[in-house]
Amino acid sequence: MNYDRVYNFSAGPSMLPEKVLEQVRDDLLNYRGTGESVMEMSHRSKEYMAIIEAAEADLRDLLDIPENYKVLFIQGGATTQFSMIPLNLMRNSHKADYVVTGSWAKKAAKEAKKFGDIRIAASSEDDTFTYIPKLTREDFRSDADYVHICFNNTIYGSHYSYIPDTGDIPLVADMSSCILSEKIDVSRFGVIYFGVQKNVAPAGCSVVIIRDDLLGYAPEDCPVYLDYKTHADNDSMYNTPPCFTIYVAGEVFRYLKAEDGIEAMHEKDVRKAEKLYSYIDSSELYTAPVRPEDRSIMNCVFVTGDEALDKKFVAEAKEEGMINLNGHRSIGGMRASIYNAMPEEGVDKLIDFMKKFEQENR
Ligand SMILES: *Cc1c(COP(=O)(O)O)cnc(C)c1O
Repeated sequence: MNYDRVYNFSAGPSMLPEKVLEQVRDDLLNYRGTGESVMEMSHRSKEYMAIIEAAEADLRDLLDIPENYKVLFIQGGATTQFSMIPLNLMRNSHKADYVVTGSWAKKAAKEAKKFGDIRIAASSEDDTFTYIPKLTREDFRSDADYVHICFNNTIYGSHYSYIPDTGDIPLVADMSSCILSEKIDVSRFGVIYFGVQKNVAPAGCSVVIIRDDLLGYAPEDCPVYLDYKTHADNDSMYNTPPCFTIYVAGEVFRYLKAEDGIEAMHEKDVRKAEKLYSYIDSSELYTAPVRPEDRSIMNCVFVTGDEALDKKFVAEAKEEGMINLNGHRSIGGMRASIYNAMPEEGVDKLIDFMKKFEQENR
């Protein structure tokens, strides 16, 4: 660990593996003998083609993405996907069912309402999003064009412990804040999408993993950039892609493979999260509101129950080199985002600080 660097618990943009940052630094002025930076490189050059192709291949490898799925790199963040999903997937009944388990899921549903008949199949808002509803096939309309879920709720700190059964209806999942933290069976989904700035890379790109039979249904008047087929037919090169972000993402994928892949990362992520939650559950001062079985291993939300004390906590932690521990501006309290790149020592240091703060403020 470079001791000038802080532990950044931000939900995103967030920490990147130090090894990757060092590699990027080394490549910055002269990318592997090309005499230029990736930032300056033509996206059509053979050097850049090799970068984007390797990024896709490594992601496919890490997630075991089946052949019949396309991987698309698209600008506009996960928010743009909230519009692209209904635009492209409302192909028959123009009905879609959404499960609302937090702010992002709610925003996705709200946006989709512009495009068709949206039904909220289930919501955990009745209990301030502290749990994930248990869904069965009967919860969804049989003629829905798709079902949308948010697999990890970044703001409230909850996560699906199962993949809902939607039968033949394509399941669409926003995995912005949990992708690459666990093995997932991609074949259970019609579409998986994620913004890269949480667990993968700097901001500027989202990745869409889409089953190929779902391509080609955007309406005629769909803006060309918002049609998945445009990106699929042009290997994410219809226009200039976010070149530098994709390059860094590719370096992170390579790093994950070198670190023994997702299983190894998952084991470490679980260990980090279990330590933190188990301390919180044993403490008198802090509580984690999310039901234990639905807790996120990426975003750990907790409160003291006293707003002023929460603020003091965040301020004092910052002085100790642990930044961005405040909860999302919409809910307050604290949130420790402990993505793949957060070293285990960062979590240990946080727990030590929490213990000290508890003693001083009981
Ligand atoms: C951050 C986040 C978003 C929004 O991402 P942008 O890239 O800023 O549009 C959407 N969904 C989830 C689950 C997120 O964590």
